Amino acid sequence: MCCDLKRRFLLLYATQKGQAKAIAEEIWQQAGAHGLEADMHCISEMDKYNLETEKDPVVIVISTTGTGDPPDTARNFVKKLQDTTLPPGHFAHLQYGLLGLGDSEYTFFCNGGKTVDKRLQELGAQRFYDTGLADDCVGLELVVDPWIDGLWLALKEAFLLQKKKEDMSSVVDAVSSSACAAPHIVHELNLSSRLQNVKLEDEGVRSSDVLSQKLVDVNLAASARDAEPSLVHSVPPLSQSTLNIPALPPEYIEVQFQDTHGENPHPSSLISEGMTFEVPVTKAIQLTREDAIKTALLLELDIADTVFDYQPGDAFCVICPNNINEVEELLHVLGLSEKGEYFVSVDIKQGTKKKGAAHPQHIPERSTLKFILTWCLEIRAIPKKAFLRALVECTSDVGEKRRLQELCSRQGTSDYARFVRDSNVCLLDLLHAFPSCKPSFNLLIEHLPRLQARSYSVSSSNLCQPGKLCFVFNIVEFPACPTRPIARKGVCTGWLAELVAPLLHPNKNTLDTKGGRSSTEKVSIFARPNNTFHLPADPSVPFMMVGPGTGIAPFIGFLQHRQKLREEHPDWEFGETWLFFGCRHRDRDYLFKQLRCFLENGTLTHLKVCFSRESSAAEVATPKYVQDVLRLYAKEVARVLLKERGYFYVCGDKKHMADGVSDAVVEILSMEMEADKLEAMKMLAVLREAKRYLQDVWS
Ligand code: FAD
Repeated sequence: MCCDLKRRFLLLYATQKGQAKAIAEEIWQQAGAHGLEADMHCISEMDKYNLETEKDPVVIVISTTGTGDPPDTARNFVKKLQDTTLPPGHFAHLQYGLLGLGDSEYTFFCNGGKTVDKRLQELGAQRFYDTGLADDCVGLELVVDPWIDGLWLALKEAFLLQKKKEDMSSVVDAVSSSACAAPHIVHELNLSSRLQNVKLEDEGVRSSDVLSQKLVDVNLAASARDAEPSLVHSVPPLSQSTLNIPALPPEYIEVQFQDTHGENPHPSSLISEGMTFEVPVTKAIQLTREDAIKTALLLELDIADTVFDYQPGDAFCVICPNNINEVEELLHVLGLSEKGEYFVSVDIKQGTKKKGAAHPQHIPERSTLKFILTWCLEIRAIPKKAFLRALVECTSDVGEKRRLQELCSRQGTSDYARFVRDSNVCLLDLLHAFPSCKPSFNLLIEHLPRLQARSYSVSSSNLCQPGKLCFVFNIVEFPACPTRPIARKGVCTGWLAELVAPLLHPNKNTLDTKGGRSSTEKVSIFARPNNTFHLPADPSVPFMMVGPGTGIAPFIGFLQHRQKLREEHPDWEFGETWLFFGCRHRDRDYLFKQLRCFLENGTLTHLKVCFSRESSAAEVATPKYVQDVLRLYAKEVARVLLKERGYFYVCGDKKHMADGVSDAVVEILSMEMEADKLEAMKMLAVLREAKRYLQDVWS
């Protein structure tokens, strides 16, 4: 065979939260089994690779962050790529394949990948494989798995092309060897690589993984055959399928239990994003009635003794722990109850095959087992397929083992989506469902992501309430379901609700000497940078705010600020202000009834409120949602945005509201500009670019 199959390719990843890295590692691992060598680097390590001289194929895995930005690690790379002095053929020598990761719930889906892809094309680079765009909203694996599957054949064809080019450029035996051998080689390689695809997929994994196993012990499947599939049961054809399961991720963490002496670090020391502040909660108010569908709370923090500063419209982060009962339960299920207070040392396993294995930054050098489970690991995270794969090895029951194998296999993709991802199953749910699965603690550190601080929009003005910071949130509730017999609350909102319960429901223990409510509870917070969601710098510019539900939060800050400015500067000119608010029922969840005061004192020029669950006796149906109300004021929206160069702010739920609002605005622009939808969409893009259409949305 004239081709050397142990060929190198350059594998670059640009990651924000670790997903692109994990996928690159998966590619790196599979490459070996395909007789290829992946030279893997973080895209930021620009001293370790050079695209200017790169001859081998390049594979790039890149995620998207913020509002369509490439990850921080790719910032310099993209900057270099965007250099306008580069000639069009600058990368003509380059063959590449790109896998972009994103979330279609955000406006600029996969924009990080698209930006790099587009620029590489402009600079003459050739795709050897179609670009993949994976969507976290429906499950990255739906695109990632088949993209990786197809990569090997594409790479081998790229090597052939590369070889052909090399042969062509070698002056000596140009005609004789390459020209007549090539077609034969292509055919042979296509065929052999296809065969290899089937065979090599399972190579490098242990014999127990080679799953041409028709189900052997079929106790479980036999009873399930007629039943509905569930997390623990499968039905044909999956239950009888030959499975392709991913390679076993190499373990790389070693945990040693030490003693029980010493002190844990402060949770805020885990934060690398800047200064943290531990501040008292001075007020808690329930904004919704008991019979409202969701419970919304307003908390007031005292920041007077800190240098923490904010502008209305800013968001900040709250450092929160996992639910203590869940931590205890996890310790119990793992058989580690006795060890909770033990300090552990976390090291890299000697001789691990994990490429680039490093001490996870979110795990302190020295802390107790309980501390790590409480403050460091997102124990509610939905287990990824690689984690399920690792759990197979810790499961003794053969039926349970098979089901876990199914869930992480390619054939089980839709079962994984339905019973794991869409059901928001977490590790604890899995360990209950598969009782013979007993993972060791190192696997949790290897596979669970870092526990993230949660973001909240400030709902106050520092001008109006100096030294105070207010925010508003709904207590997130997850009702019980077949895989989870006990209802749960959101990690952070559930914790905050418990923390402030004494302020909400005072008894004699929490009344201070004057009979008022007091609390000694504190929360740790830090600033969330990069915000453009601010009031227009020029107060005479008109603006419109759309904020149903807790989306009203930043606008309360805007209005308080504006009110204060009006009081302090009666000679200033202030532009028109509109607020579109919506809730379910006027009596149950109209969060801020005092909005009327802003209207009465002139801070707010127009207040438009709708109630989605109230029926109307009027002949003409009343609008239910904010986007319906917006349509009623189409002329005003167009005037403010187009004629008066005003600002438009949207805040709140991204899934159900933000897209509805932007669709309504496109319709309005199209109607008022007498242009087609495409033109109106372009105009909206221009407004976004000019930071006059601003969104602060969350799920
Ligand atoms: P988590 O436990 O993290 O759960 C939240 C999400 O996880 C759910 O919505 C769901 O998608 C998923 N989930 C987890 N487990 C399950 C399950 N068992 N069943 C179903 N789904 C599940 N929120 C506000 O209320 N007010 C604000 O002002 C605000 N401002 C924000 C500003 C920014 C910039 C951002 C990014 C977010 C903001 N959020 C705001 C959202 C907020 O950060 C949190 O996401 C929210 O409070 C939930 O946190 P949690 O830890 O309680 O919920």
